[in-house]
Amino acid sequence: MRVAVVTVGDELLSGDTVNTNAAWLCERLTDRGVDVERVTTVPDDVADIARVVNEYRAEHDAVVVTGGLGPTHDDVTMAGVAAAVGRELSAHEEAREWLTSEGGYSAADLAERTTHLPARARMLPNAEGVAPGAVVEGIYVLPGVPAEMKAMFETVDEEFTGETAFSTVVDVDEPESELVGRFGELRERFDVTVGSYPGETVRVKLTATDEAVLDEARRWLESRVTLVDGGAE
Ligand code: ATP
Ligand code: MG
Repeated sequence: MRVAVVTVGDELLSGDTVNTNAAWLCERLTDRGVDVERVTTVPDDVADIARVVNEYRAEHDAVVVTGGLGPTHDDVTMAGVAAAVGRELSAHEEAREWLTSEGGYSAADLAERTTHLPARARMLPNAEGVAPGAVVEGIYVLPGVPAEMKAMFETVDEEFTGETAFSTVVDVDEPESELVGRFGELRERFDVTVGSYPGETVRVKLTATDEAVLDEARRWLESRVTLVDGGAE
């Protein structure tokens, strides 16, 4: 399954808020075997949200959008998603019912826009907050507050599937440039993906769909590099 992630919020683009939602979603989706192919941050702007969501839904099996669900003037994500799929944004009966029964809010307390979702969307209750999420035409719209986003994602995570991959990390104490030849040979010999992440040492991440192949590849590499202290025998 191929998925794109869209995070919405001026505060993410200005650097006021660190985009931890994107990292968390990428990790969770990848763990489920999903290929996350795009992560894009857009401002709180209906046209920007609509344009990016529309482009991504054409190219991916699902799009996960987070942020900007609240009732305040700068929360326009539902309007952007509704525009992307050409549906109206309208009061959603189920959302109103959930909020006034399980959510414990009186109808008078609710800011009117809180219950507005794209027409005929599936409502996702917000167990940790107020504003509900929605699923419409493969677009999953989740809140921005991390605790709310995570709790809501857990209610739909099984809808994201893919071939489970296994991975392992080898820490290498050599300059990355000197490893090129061995990486090439590793990839020729084994059906593995090799990711190389240099820092003070080089983190080499091997990924494979067959666990036995992964073990063999790991042993092959470990016996041909200088491992970081503790990794060496
Ligand atoms: P609310 O209903 O509370 O308004 P919301 O869905 O409208 O929630 P936002 O207004 O986009 O969410 O963001 C609420 C808060 O959540 C922000 O102040 C920010 O701290 C945090 N937040 C939003 N997006 C992210 C993100 N991508 N990563 C981490 N934190 C985020
Ligand atoms: Mg908000």
